[in-house]
Amino acid sequence: MLTGAAFAPFSACKMETQSEKLKNWAGNLTYSTANVFEPKTVSEVQDIIKKCKKVRALGTRHCFNRIADSPENLISTKYLNEISPIDLTTRTITVGAGIRYGEFCKQLHDQGYGIHNLASLPHISVAGACATATHGSGMANGNLATPVSAIEMVTAGGELVTLSKEKDPDAFYGAVVGLGALGVITKVTLELIPTFAVRQDVYLNLPVAQLENHFDEIMSGGYSVSLFHDWQTENINQVWIKRKVKEGETLTAEQEFFGATLADRNVHPILEISAENCTEQMGVPGPWYDRLPHFKMGFTPSSGEELQAEYFVPRQHAVEAIKAVATLKDEIRPVLMITEIRAIDGDNLWMSPCYHQPSIAIHFTLKQDNNGVSALLPKIEEKLAPFGVKPHWGKLFTIPPPTLQSRYEKLSEFQQLINQYDPEGKFRNEFIQTNIFGSPA
Ligand SMILES: Cc1cc2nc3c(=O)[nH]c(=O)nc-3n(C[C@H](O)[C@H](O)[C@H](O)COP(=O)(O)OP(=O)(O)OC[C@H]3O[C@@H](n4cnc5c(N)ncnc54)[C@H](O)[C@@H]3O)c2cc1C
Repeated sequence: MLTGAAFAPFSACKMETQSEKLKNWAGNLTYSTANVFEPKTVSEVQDIIKKCKKVRALGTRHCFNRIADSPENLISTKYLNEISPIDLTTRTITVGAGIRYGEFCKQLHDQGYGIHNLASLPHISVAGACATATHGSGMANGNLATPVSAIEMVTAGGELVTLSKEKDPDAFYGAVVGLGALGVITKVTLELIPTFAVRQDVYLNLPVAQLENHFDEIMSGGYSVSLFHDWQTENINQVWIKRKVKEGETLTAEQEFFGATLADRNVHPILEISAENCTEQMGVPGPWYDRLPHFKMGFTPSSGEELQAEYFVPRQHAVEAIKAVATLKDEIRPVLMITEIRAIDGDNLWMSPCYHQPSIAIHFTLKQDNNGVSALLPKIEEKLAPFGVKPHWGKLFTIPPPTLQSRYEKLSEFQQLINQYDPEGKFRNEFIQTNIFGSPA
């Protein structure tokens, strides 16, 4: 366990000094403190929390904004990565909060199980992903927090609390997408499904005009469908279709998909980048954990040096929302690397952008041009405002807090839940204070 010199060491935690402040994955922000604890057990987490006045949990640092930041102390969950045996009765697995999907999904598959969906990358921690409602794609697929059936969490007083879908439905639905504001999650229990195989086919140059009358059909073209677009031509650059394949079943891919042409090689979403980092395409069947993410574990996901923003709108407004963003194509061009459009099913999680609302997410992988991005995002947000747009909690956005808050019907229940588990604001950082409570810290 590590901490910085400014913090009086806890002997129970065997702390060392971390002299340098950590950066997030993209390197666009430096966390405000060098006091980073790395507990190996739940009781160490309890000890640290009891002794800290201010603290936040830190997963794999893949967020682009200051949601995970703390002015005083961070608890890295990287050593909270144990895997319990699969519970065959409930068909669930309990994992340490800090484990990355890529570290246990193969093991699940080897034992005959799967998780319904994954994000574009397997490098992120389970608790960190669920805390921000991280998602993949698929008309019938909820976000990554939807298969959570229980969480174990250390709250502000150092108490260990378990919340389950079955026993504590109210608090549970508020706590799973908890933005790190209720406590430090130490274990997550996930509902499993039987393992499945997926094949991935990519189509190039889908005429944008096809979205007008066929959006739902296009997004239902597979178990998970992603559209990659640069907004500059009359074509969607790439359509990635991930289809389930049953054992012994031979699926073929049509040469054409709504006017798009089947790719004859593996491609990266940004065509100029080598596809080496991408999961196998060209219809080669493989296990779910090696096809649902776009990028392979052990390789750099996406482009690396980038910023990201992503916006959710109700699915019924998908085409109108895409058209509204397209009017900004000239402003988008200088800063965009690529856009990805995905579908996410509705859920019951209070702070999920898809709460009771099947949605589409319009994602922007952007150049690390802070001024350009800061100028662009409010324009996109304005175009999407008529559709009640919500931003991804872990990515960049500029929506004013009162507007953001008005779009979460369970906001006041969530505020009460925070006050119940953290009455003195130990886990409240500036991001939470501003965006959830509406005033700067
Ligand atoms: C290359 C790249 C690709 C991405 N692809 C996708 C994608 O496909 N879909 C998508 O939706 N998002 C995507 N993201 C965003 C990413 O999934 C989210 O930012 C996610 O929250 C990152 O998880 P993390 O473990 O890095 O969390 P961190 O960034 O470390 O933390 C995120 C939040 O979770 C809280 N937290 C972390 N661990 C705990 C814990 N144990 N207890 C309580 N709170 C905790 C933190 O306090 C913080 O508020 C991508 C990001 C990158 C960099």
